[in-house]
Amino acid sequence: MSNPRVRFAPSPTGSPHIGNIRTAVFDYLFAEHTNGTFILRVEDTDRTRYVENSLEEMMAGLRWLGMQWDEGPEADGAHGPYFQSERLNLYHKYAQQLLDEGKAYYCYCSRERLEAMRKVQEAAKTHTGYDRKCRDLTPKEREERARECPAPVIRFKMALDGRTEFDDIVRGRVGFDNSLQDDFVMIKADGFPTYHFASIVDDHLMEITHVIRGEEWLSSAPKHVQLYDAFGWKPPVWVHLPLIMDTSGKKLSKRSGVSTAFYDYIENGYLPEAMLNFLATMGWGSGEDRKLYSRAELVEKFSLEGIANHPAIFDIAKLNDLNGEYIRMLSVDDLANMIRPRLHAAGYINGMPSEEELAYLKSVTSLIRDRLVTLAEAPEMVEFFYNDDFGYDEKGAKKHLSKETTPPALKSVSEKLAGLEMWDVESIDAAVRAAGVEHGLEGGHIIHPVRMAITGRTWGPGLFDLMQVIGQKKCVARLQRAASQTF
Ligand code: GLU
Repeated sequence: MSNPRVRFAPSPTGSPHIGNIRTAVFDYLFAEHTNGTFILRVEDTDRTRYVENSLEEMMAGLRWLGMQWDEGPEADGAHGPYFQSERLNLYHKYAQQLLDEGKAYYCYCSRERLEAMRKVQEAAKTHTGYDRKCRDLTPKEREERARECPAPVIRFKMALDGRTEFDDIVRGRVGFDNSLQDDFVMIKADGFPTYHFASIVDDHLMEITHVIRGEEWLSSAPKHVQLYDAFGWKPPVWVHLPLIMDTSGKKLSKRSGVSTAFYDYIENGYLPEAMLNFLATMGWGSGEDRKLYSRAELVEKFSLEGIANHPAIFDIAKLNDLNGEYIRMLSVDDLANMIRPRLHAAGYINGMPSEEELAYLKSVTSLIRDRLVTLAEAPEMVEFFYNDDFGYDEKGAKKHLSKETTPPALKSVSEKLAGLEMWDVESIDAAVRAAGVEHGLEGGHIIHPVRMAITGRTWGPGLFDLMQVIGQKKCVARLQRAASQTF
């Protein structure tokens, strides 16, 4: 057997959805694992839903994840064009073939008629679908109706009885009653094909061996299987990926409390490696008890057999955990470069930082690396490293600062620190503790007030480490400022 060919076939109808990207990840990993071909095909036949720039966003998103397609827009390939809107003549040719063979027919029914028909079906609570009025017209009837309706649609003659059965890698043997199927439209009145028709013609012509797509398409598969049959073409291997649920067990949606827009995750500072790991393991597993997979490991271990046949859960806690792990794998230099634009946007550093500013950024970065969950948290987390004029956390002030003992103790700390000749962690540590002891404040009783004075917060990186980075002059000034506050 030749190497697999898989396609990711987005419709450019809006900003990429996390579910679509998950499908692309599975296509990509399968192609990489099998030395196959990963094809990007643009399903742009619904002109009413076309959204400018959505293809560009999709391509940028795939590239951000490091998933370059082998054939498709901005890539070569012998099976193009890869835009369905540029393949209309092919769809017409194959539709004509089915018309000639009596496997498809022109339908002249008006929108009004179809609507009225649907209303009657709904009221009677019967199966809704086209009543096949035009399926068996005589040539004469057809001529008459064509006069009334110059822009008919072309419908496919679905089998009227029996079952359509096929094998799905994830679901096993699947079957649908033909009596519940509709004579679906292949070519619309505007001359554009429907998804069902175009995707089958293209999957065949592009020699797609495995159709990997979301489970929401499973119920459409009988249409596709019957089309393959009608043409006498060999169908691909069907792989319907499990639905994505939220943690409350409902289908992932806007109401799930997490974003479904892929770009939000880029903007919110998730790393591509973490995102790839997360999406790949949303419905797939290698059978091992592990959460971290590098790209190379995913490619090496991916198999269609490892796809779960139960819903996948989108668990943001898991993603956060993974992202933190990947952040901690970065070098300080790399992480500093990644957060730099965000600190610039927050106004903490300028666009062309000096050597000194860069060195400071690196020191700051090394202190927050352990706590950072997403890059987007960095500006908030580092605020006190850059801003002297911060406020004091109210709860923390209530808990750790006393009107009577804190001001004199902080004053002593500031004096001791001002006198230090060496500004290193050990000297700072010793000076702070010694000043505390003079005021009867030991351990946390002096450390918490000093932390509040230096950062305005109750938590953060190690106190003496961050003081060392902030510098002697600033620390002394901050302690004096806090000592003069009434809180
Ligand atoms: N254009 C369809 C979509 O956006 C593709 C479905 C398929 O992969 O067959 O979901």
